[in-house]
Amino acid sequence: MRKSVPVLLISAMCTLGQTPEVKKALDYLRGHHEEHLAKQVQIAEIPAPTFHEAERARFMEAEFRRVGLARVEIDEQGNVLGWRPGRIEKTLAIAAHLDISFAPGVNTKVRKEGGRWHAPGIADDSRGLAAMLAIVEAMNHAGLKTSRTLLFVANVGEEGLGDLAGIRYLFQKSRHRSRIDSFISIDGTNPATVTNGGTGVKRYRVSVKGPGGHSYGNFGRPSASHAIGRIVARLADFEVPARPKTTFNVGRIGGGTAVNAIAEESWLEVDLRSEDPSELERLEVKFLEAIRLGVEAENQKHAASGAALTSEHKLVSNRPAGQTPEASPLVQAAMRASRATGHEPVQRFGSTDSNLPISLGIPAVTLGGGGRSDNAHSLKEWFEPEGAWKGPQTVLLTILGFDGLLDRPIGPDGR
Ligand SMILES: [Zn+2]
Repeated sequence: MRKSVPVLLISAMCTLGQTPEVKKALDYLRGHHEEHLAKQVQIAEIPAPTFHEAERARFMEAEFRRVGLARVEIDEQGNVLGWRPGRIEKTLAIAAHLDISFAPGVNTKVRKEGGRWHAPGIADDSRGLAAMLAIVEAMNHAGLKTSRTLLFVANVGEEGLGDLAGIRYLFQKSRHRSRIDSFISIDGTNPATVTNGGTGVKRYRVSVKGPGGHSYGNFGRPSASHAIGRIVARLADFEVPARPKTTFNVGRIGGGTAVNAIAEESWLEVDLRSEDPSELERLEVKFLEAIRLGVEAENQKHAASGAALTSEHKLVSNRPAGQTPEASPLVQAAMRASRATGHEPVQRFGSTDSNLPISLGIPAVTLGGGGRSDNAHSLKEWFEPEGAWKGPQTVLLTILGFDGLLDRPIGPDGR
């Protein structure tokens, strides 16, 4: 839970924001908070399930033009790009994701109850998209010029089976990829969280096929469902380290046709995660072995039937693991910025768009867009806007600190 320390905050703003321009930009974000909240609500009401982001992308394209970004375009992958030229070509990309983790047809109407706003995606990541626009407005208002060029990105494909497609395209295929040397994702809300570690995620869909048959008449044949059960039982007994945090979960199982039929086909979906790439690889190898051993055991038991099962597995999602070191100037800038806006920052691992640049060795952090929120990815998602301007303030101070624009980067604790 964040503590609010208003007096400390004001003095921190004065010390960190040495120049009148920086102070002017920070004041702008606080003063125009209500407008930025209204923009967030407007964005949230445009449906944008993963793979269906086009309408929200067109809205953000117009917004990028409104705030004065240059060379605004929607790239081949569907990402919206807008530039704020600096003195040098080297580019810091700042992104928030367009997509929401819901199926097409979801009702995105925003509802206000007391101090809370409710809607799927109201925080994740409508807050990030609105924060991005607010930051550009504030920089323009204060006449802030950076050395690095800034590329603002409203990207597709962050959630679920989007598998980071938008940011993957930006770093691996887009014609701009060679000039982007650092990355900030605005995702989540808490400005005290500096996500500099990418939890690696691999998801598999496994299916087993066999002869099927009558449960009584053909008893003795191998069953696809029984084999799936054997695979899950092996996985359930895996020992994984608590640090680096490593996890597994069979989220869905299905198959078979009737209670009195030997299952001809059954399947499972598994989610494997680790903060450490080699632990994730070890877990993956063990899981793939569990598939082989589970099917073999079922076949062996029913060898006399002359029938055998076969299995297939498909990697349906692959988010690489890694970490931007604490000593990296980008992480340091984010920690100082978070302190300057009155927070006690913590470094975390997460599964965000930053995973992709981190896996390529490009410094990246994910920062909160401000306010409080909970129940992301559920229809009960909510957002509380109290003090939410501290989100864009923290991101702006991170950009400026990383760029070397804050002459005396001192936080409230004197560091
Ligand atoms: Zn998100």
